[in-house]
Amino acid sequence: MEGSLINEAPAIGIDLGTTYSCVAVWNRNRIEIIPNDQGNNTTPSCVAFLDAERLIGDGAKNQIAMRPASTIYDAKRLIGRKFSDLKVQAAMKLWAFKVIEGPADTPKIVVTYNGQEKEFLAEEISSMILGKMKEIAEVYLRKDVKNAVITVPAYFNDSQRQATKDAGTIAGLNIIRMINEPTAAAIAYGLDNKSNIIGKINVLIFDLGGGTFDVSVSTIEEGDIFEVKGVSGDTHLGGEDFDNRMVDHCVREFKRKYNKDLSGNQRALGRLKFACEKAKMILSSTTQTSIELDCLHEGIDFSMKFTRAKFEELNMSLFNTCIKTLEKCLSDAKMEKSSVDEIILVGGSTRIPKIQLMLREFFDGKELCKSLNPDEAVAYGAAVMAEKLSDIGGRSFRDLSLIDVTPLSLGIDVIGDLFSVVIPRNTPIPTKKDKNYYTTADNQTSMRIKVYQGERSQSTKNHLLGEFTIYGIPLAPKGVPIIKVYFDIDVNGILTVTAKIVSTGKSEKLRITQENGRLSKEEIKKMVKDAERYKNEDQAYKKKVDAYVALEDCLYKMRNKIRKFDFKTVSPETLKKIENSIADTTKWLEDNQGAPLEELQRMKASLELACTPLI
Ligand code: AMP
Repeated sequence: MEGSLINEAPAIGIDLGTTYSCVAVWNRNRIEIIPNDQGNNTTPSCVAFLDAERLIGDGAKNQIAMRPASTIYDAKRLIGRKFSDLKVQAAMKLWAFKVIEGPADTPKIVVTYNGQEKEFLAEEISSMILGKMKEIAEVYLRKDVKNAVITVPAYFNDSQRQATKDAGTIAGLNIIRMINEPTAAAIAYGLDNKSNIIGKINVLIFDLGGGTFDVSVSTIEEGDIFEVKGVSGDTHLGGEDFDNRMVDHCVREFKRKYNKDLSGNQRALGRLKFACEKAKMILSSTTQTSIELDCLHEGIDFSMKFTRAKFEELNMSLFNTCIKTLEKCLSDAKMEKSSVDEIILVGGSTRIPKIQLMLREFFDGKELCKSLNPDEAVAYGAAVMAEKLSDIGGRSFRDLSLIDVTPLSLGIDVIGDLFSVVIPRNTPIPTKKDKNYYTTADNQTSMRIKVYQGERSQSTKNHLLGEFTIYGIPLAPKGVPIIKVYFDIDVNGILTVTAKIVSTGKSEKLRITQENGRLSKEEIKKMVKDAERYKNEDQAYKKKVDAYVALEDCLYKMRNKIRKFDFKTVSPETLKKIENSIADTTKWLEDNQGAPLEELQRMKASLELACTPLI
């Protein structure tokens, strides 16, 4: 494709999902959802490391049941989290791939690739998926893609946002903005219904995907002004959790029927998970289906009927959590449920009939809006934002204005493990706020500032984002020196904290360091290089496969030609030579399946030379 990249493409919008990702662009005066090389509008967020090949997307997902330990998915559940995080520990139990504790409590994914054991951060796996989405757009637009808007769950904390931004950088993308997934969906709805929106309307976005759940309430004015009033959610609730409950049920059934525990058999679990997800999707349109797996464990075939009622029973507590979160979101936004004008469904899991029914009941029978494609709405909104912010395009959507909010409260730890909030949750962003703090001991010369994010009144129950110390406080009795702490959240929802000694003007900034899981500039540089190396390796591997196929194809053609050849035109010696060459090359190819590119090319050239009389 190199050489055909005429110039730079417009900025793209990427919905980087836990299970599937989607890319869109403003092209030919409309938003286009870009299909991948398989013709699908969404691409599995999945990377497989095989013996000498790396697969990303459909190819990776299609072989997951065969090689579960080498196929990585769910990187979004790991990104920006600590290894010791209870949610990471719980998710790990269900993954067939290996996750270990890296430095500073960072989770690392371990795979064997090219015969070597390799460790990857979640950022690197996400960067591979982003790289794939970039490539999908480049093939479609026949241009080089540099700029992108990426969406993140509204409920992502600062570390998760920072890490996602780093993933974009490693993929060679310039992330011009990160917006919240439900906000992107609201934009998509607003534009789709621009002519119908008169005055202000309140929309509720209910976004239940593969791994995360987000709910938000926004007002849309004339289809151009979007103001987010409240967000709530759970970064660990989605379709995969429903699948897992089904898997657990199957494992119990297997135990009951055959008195055998298959929970340690990773391959069996991988196959079950795949089958359960399929069954779950079928149960959205029928009331009964079955799971059938040959030789699941210790040679035993497994088959089981699954009804929609059983599926709902297994997942009822999770469905109830969704409704409770929805209630919280409305109460945060100080909005009555009767004031909601539109209920918009986003994310594949909103296709589940029980969820739709519970939502309709919650809103006293109100119809749900289904005009948006739940798989594509987020990427659509991201592409609108990308066009608005783009240097290249930027002519459209100039009037669109967006006011988003911070999903979680931000503040610092004060004496007694108390969380002192500086920016409350659901504050419109960008925002700047400050608060005064005082020394707690006589002649205290330094102060440790620990920055947390969360809703608990005890600091340590929240998420620690980073810490730093400000030195040089002038000697004075306790409670006299004033330290002003400034919190600044940018348009991407990313935070900078500064502390200043008021009397001297000396200040110190929080740098989220590696200790807190953030990558350093050098590490990102190294990962960018690694990403390029992997891409080159992928290309080299593809070239080799192409050369292998070309030689095989050439042999096939020559064999056919010799069969139909008029033997009078060549001498018997020449004919013998040709036959020998074909036989030798066939044998050579059988014995040298992994031959390097140059040798494959050389063998093809010499075969063609020997067969010149045939051609
Ligand atoms: P998303 O993250 O929005 O791409 O959603 C992906 C999730 O939606 C996965 O867990 C899928 O299994 C789930 N999903 C897709 N289609 C259906 C369906 N028809 N019924 C139930 N779940 C579905």
